[in-house]
Amino acid sequence: MTRPLWAPWRLEYIQSADEQPGCVFCLAQAGDDEEQLVVRRCEAAFALLNRFPYASGHLLVAPYRHVGTYGELTDAEALEVHHLGQQGLAALAEIYAPQGYNLGWNLGRVAGAGIVDHVHLHVVPRWEGDTNFMPVVGDARVIVQSLEALYELLTARWRG
Ligand SMILES: [Zn+2]
Repeated sequence: MTRPLWAPWRLEYIQSADEQPGCVFCLAQAGDDEEQLVVRRCEAAFALLNRFPYASGHLLVAPYRHVGTYGELTDAEALEVHHLGQQGLAALAEIYAPQGYNLGWNLGRVAGAGIVDHVHLHVVPRWEGDTNFMPVVGDARVIVQSLEALYELLTARWRG
């Protein structure tokens, strides 16, 4: 196990995860983009900033449809989720110039998924000297930039 970090947003997440009246991805897509940190919408999928990030610039990409298994994604959804992942990498590269990335799916609670019934792709920027992937998905990092500031930068670049 990694050392616990001071990460109040994770605590808030843990406290609120089971109290949410609905699915956060379904709520996000139905809500206001800026409020919900939605940076990009396409036809079958959308991308948003993770409100409880493991690293600065941590993005989530999900289909609009509330589906819980990877295999249930249609071809169009699977393609668009990955296209959004590519676009997210490009936007993050311009803003942060990370040295690497992890792209991944946490399928099932045991694999680290906080939300198990609406599949989503994690896009996590990485830098030399940060933790490796497993601690990243299992713990939290100190975030240096506010979500609001990053949201402005990302939407400006990504939406062009
Ligand atoms: Zn949902």
